[in-house]
Amino acid sequence: MSKEVFLCAISNISSGSCAEDCGFCTQSSKHHADIQRYKYKDIKEIVKEAKVAKANGAVGFCLVTSGKGLDDKKLDFVCQSAIAVKKEVPQINLIACNGLASLEQLRTLKKAGVELYNHNLESSQNFYKTLCQTHSWEERYQTCLHVKESGLRLVCGGIFGLGESETDRASFIQSVKSLNPFTMPLNFFHPNPALPIKTKPMDEDEALKIIQQTRAELPNTRLMVAGGREITFKTKQNKIFDAGANAIVIGNYLTTSGAKPNKDIVMIKNAGYEIASFCNE
Ligand code: SF4
Repeated sequence: MSKEVFLCAISNISSGSCAEDCGFCTQSSKHHADIQRYKYKDIKEIVKEAKVAKANGAVGFCLVTSGKGLDDKKLDFVCQSAIAVKKEVPQINLIACNGLASLEQLRTLKKAGVELYNHNLESSQNFYKTLCQTHSWEERYQTCLHVKESGLRLVCGGIFGLGESETDRASFIQSVKSLNPFTMPLNFFHPNPALPIKTKPMDEDEALKIIQQTRAELPNTRLMVAGGREITFKTKQNKIFDAGANAIVIGNYLTTSGAKPNKDIVMIKNAGYEIASFCNE
């Protein structure tokens, strides 16, 4: 396997106040978590963040909005943001992550310059019912199928450490595999006192095993360790690449802070890996 690690940065361009009840998410208004909330981030600020991401070596930049999905106003805002970023930072792959989406909405995003769409299955079909009651796993799967049909590249993964069983994990990985995503984000639960899920951060060796299991099932997918990396892997973050990960999120996450990008780059190089440069294959 290549010794290259892809870096991706995310921007929470519309944060919090979500009417859904996902038990792992601080952006649900049901949990009253202590997070920043704003309707729309200033587009100039989004472009600035994309420039910083590029300067930090990111090959991907993701425009994330909270909420179940897209309405016309939000779709237009994401498109305007995408157009502005692509104009100023053409050498970065643009990803959108805006919840459930119709085929038509995804085609509109593609026309605006979005190249990949991130929609996670989050967990197994069975376990997801215990995590969210306001929308279904099946709706999520359908959006992933729309992404494939739209011609956008699919980014689809989920979150571990919510109390799911080994069987749930195996079933979840098989479901993602059935969609053959370009990238699979692996998030690890970051506890927050406001959330109904009370599990502790996962043991680092157990988390490394999950990366190995996922890599064995999806040998050609870009495996990206995303939220919860620092709190889960602690001093073993350099082991995630030997376990099979070949991408990470750098900088801050949606509602939690990440490590300084230069610190991550040193960690990657010390582990014997190189930072991947932009390629539009
Ligand atoms: S739909 Fe998205 S933003 Fe809303 S609570 Fe669920 S995960 Fe969070």
